[in-house]
Amino acid sequence: MKLIFEESRPGRKLGLLPECDVEKYEIKAPKRALKLHLPEMSETGISRHYTQLAKQTRGVNDGFYPLGSCTMKYNPKINEDMASLPGFTGLHPLQPADTAKGALSLMLGLKESLCEITGMDDMTLQPAAGAHGEFTGLLLIKAYHTDRKDLARTKIIVPDSAHGTNPASAHMAGFEIVNIKSNEEGCIDLDTLRSVCGPDTAGLMLTNPNTVGIFDPNIKEITDIVHAAGGLCYYDGANLNAITGIARPGDMGFDVIHLNLHKTFSTPHGGGGPGAGPVGCKSFLKKFLPWPVVERQDSEAFLSMPEKSIGTVRSFFGNFLVMVKAYTYILSLGKEGIPEASTNAVLNANYMRVKLKDKYKMAFDHTCMHEFVMTLEHEKHSLGITAMDIAKGLIDFGIHPPTMYFPLIVHEALMIEPTETESKETLDDCIDAFLKLYETALENGEKLHGAPYTSPIGRPDEVLAARSLKLKYEFEA
Ligand SMILES: *Cc1c(COP(=O)(O)O)cnc(C)c1O
Repeated sequence: MKLIFEESRPGRKLGLLPECDVEKYEIKAPKRALKLHLPEMSETGISRHYTQLAKQTRGVNDGFYPLGSCTMKYNPKINEDMASLPGFTGLHPLQPADTAKGALSLMLGLKESLCEITGMDDMTLQPAAGAHGEFTGLLLIKAYHTDRKDLARTKIIVPDSAHGTNPASAHMAGFEIVNIKSNEEGCIDLDTLRSVCGPDTAGLMLTNPNTVGIFDPNIKEITDIVHAAGGLCYYDGANLNAITGIARPGDMGFDVIHLNLHKTFSTPHGGGGPGAGPVGCKSFLKKFLPWPVVERQDSEAFLSMPEKSIGTVRSFFGNFLVMVKAYTYILSLGKEGIPEASTNAVLNANYMRVKLKDKYKMAFDHTCMHEFVMTLEHEKHSLGITAMDIAKGLIDFGIHPPTMYFPLIVHEALMIEPTETESKETLDDCIDAFLKLYETALENGEKLHGAPYTSPIGRPDEVLAARSLKLKYEFEA
């Protein structure tokens, strides 16, 4: 399809407004050096252009989206209804706090619910994404050590199964990264952990269940080892969907966590839209939280300035309407619904895992939590069929590909997270598609190398597409 600038024709416009009948006023401001390029389109043209574009994208509302680690669950429409209430959309972040008491109490309610779900004592809602939360949480850890004049603690331990944002955030926060190898179960090796912990340990970053979908059975021992060495424990909350209402990072010994509201708490994500990555902490870290923090005084919410705050990490309060959606979700599920969602997420993942494991080799052959990882390493060598081929083949069945080539510790990885919001029929259709693709791999591998056959774009050069993104139209000079 054509770009909007290619569809543009000089002088074409929306013809709905009458001619201007007041005197024209020339603004006395420096003139722009370059012409402002705006596409010139009719209203019909614009409407069709964006409808075309919308039809070419894919989201949870189009079909199954088992993208491991991303928790692409269905986002209930009531969340959107609440976030469109004029009382919320009409707020201005600079208006006096006592004229926005409803918004403050919503933020307080959300914060208290999330603290209860995670076993934390306090929380900032300011960070705009998971990775942003990681950076914020690491600054809290840094502030803690600095405040105690324990300046030798410069290292953050990160397992090799971690999401790439973990070492990146630690580096941005000024730490050195100590990468440790996972054991053959995909979990932390206690001896390796002991051998790297010492007076230079600032902390450990971990997600549990981990990125291969396994709940680390030694979690309490892990956090004890780090604490005994004087370090703090950071919990990457991206995989919280497996355990909400069932187990709490705070009880596992974690001191700081981030949550991805756009994963676990059903607010839309992807495509660069707004997200939220609240950061929770134990009470001894409260005084370092970004300001302002919403606090409770009897039944009233008010804003407070933590005594030794690391400063703000985002403008104003964070993505407020995302908070409205997440809080709506929590209240609609309630105390019973929250653990039920996690239980069903785990059940769905295990249902798919068991149905697929005779054909597809599981990277770790355990009962899994909310997601599981398969490896196509054998098929790559014996049949020349890769994880990419299977993932691309799924598109022709109307299914979004799973996460590929992550975590890095599994070769030819496909990581599947069905989530709790999918029906048995959807899971069965997907299992069927996987099994049919396996047949095709055995009988007609060539065909699979060409998949997908039904999408507007099939196989872009992945490296070029990631490294040389072309996001701007180049005008002729
Ligand atoms: C998604 C994810 C992150 C990063 O979160 P964003 O909100 O995308 O910045 C970190 N860790 C894990 C394990 C994740 O899946």
